[in-house]
Amino acid sequence: MSLIVQKFGGSSVANAERVFNVADIITKAYSQDNDIVVVVSAQGDTTDDLIAKAKEINGDASKREMDMLLTAGEQISASLLAMAIEKMGYPVVSLLGWQAGFHTSSAYGSARIKRVVPDRIKKELDKKNIVIVTGFQGLNRYNDMTTLGRGGSDTSAVAIAAVMNADLCQIFTDVEGVFTADPRKVKNARKLDVISYDEMLELASLGAQVLNNRSVEMAKKYGIELEVLSSMTRKPGTIVKEAKKMEKMLISGIARDDDVARVSIIGVPDKPGLAFRIFSKLSAKNINVDLILQSVGRNGTKDISFTISQANLKDTIEILNPYVELIGATNVVYDDKVAKVSIVGAGMETHPGIAAQMFEALYEADINIQMIATSEIKISVLIKRDDADKAVSAIHNKFFSETEPINP
Ligand code: ADP
Ligand code: ASP
Ligand code: MG
Repeated sequence: MSLIVQKFGGSSVANAERVFNVADIITKAYSQDNDIVVVVSAQGDTTDDLIAKAKEINGDASKREMDMLLTAGEQISASLLAMAIEKMGYPVVSLLGWQAGFHTSSAYGSARIKRVVPDRIKKELDKKNIVIVTGFQGLNRYNDMTTLGRGGSDTSAVAIAAVMNADLCQIFTDVEGVFTADPRKVKNARKLDVISYDEMLELASLGAQVLNNRSVEMAKKYGIELEVLSSMTRKPGTIVKEAKKMEKMLISGIARDDDVARVSIIGVPDKPGLAFRIFSKLSAKNINVDLILQSVGRNGTKDISFTISQANLKDTIEILNPYVELIGATNVVYDDKVAKVSIVGAGMETHPGIAAQMFEALYEADINIQMIATSEIKISVLIKRDDADKAVSAIHNKFFSETEPINP
């Protein structure tokens, strides 16, 4: 007998037919003499719809009340899924995050899982129940419901798999696995059979929505192998695991992130300490800065540009506008119509020339690069958002020609 954790995303349970499809997957695994813990997301676009409803009432609602609202989405899908399984004649129980033992930090809207105490889950499994747990939520030290941030159900599933030492953790979604690029946007994107935690973590952090980045971080920390697969086609998916067990791919994928804005401070006096002062101001307000570019000083001044997420743009400009005069800079400008396109691959560490190939693809597509950032296994460029579709396709064509096998 094995313990299997299965997570189903929103589109997998979007309507009654799909709920029964998922119930069929679950009960088949249960009938093969396995203990099954299921983590479920809210149906379809429920979370977005709830956010829209809140905005109709109060555009400035407290994060606590937002979490009170959003946790309801998963309660609906978990109970409906349990009802479907009941109807099929199997023993089942649905549990909210707190009943399943999820303790989180108190940061409403982006809480971190502190620990999972799975006593109730174990009791229910001992009673031979299939256990359905609401993803994306937990309880903080004030006994208030919290949510884990968008896409957080993946993390709920990995947390249960880690604490219960599950034999298998399957993330069912609406595509057949992890692809070389978003398969909904790039038609010749190819499914990967396997990808390392580090590459998956980069892809997820750089905009590939298929797995939440915290879930990958946690899977790596606890050595939980993940299988990402489709709930619709039931074909083998993509395995996410430790790199040493696999061959290194040159490039494993391309990711795109539209949630970026570029801010530039023009005419900053060219003397020590100013970058420090500017970025400390932002970090004091918890504003995360991503790409940074500083021009070489000329005539005693320089320009400093950086990117942030769109949600932080208003605050950043409000913080910097009065400050700019104080430090003797000229002004602050911003552009919120940019996108970050990145390539990720463990092989680039040992293969020079990957950056040149990426830039060549962009040049051939007549796309201008505004900023560049690199690390050992990724290269990111900032470009005009209108160019992003074209950029992803051009880069994809450059690295994944039809004939070249991937995952040899
Ligand atoms: P779920 O609701 O199951 O959690 P998500 O919408 O969060 O599903 O994630 C799946 C989506 O991720 C896919 O529909 C796909 O459009 C998108 N995606 C982006 N990049 C990739 C990629 N590299 N591989 C697979 N899917 C990707
Ligand atoms: N329902 C939540 C969201 O839409 C959590 C998830 O789907 O993982 O972000
Ligand atoms: Mg998701």
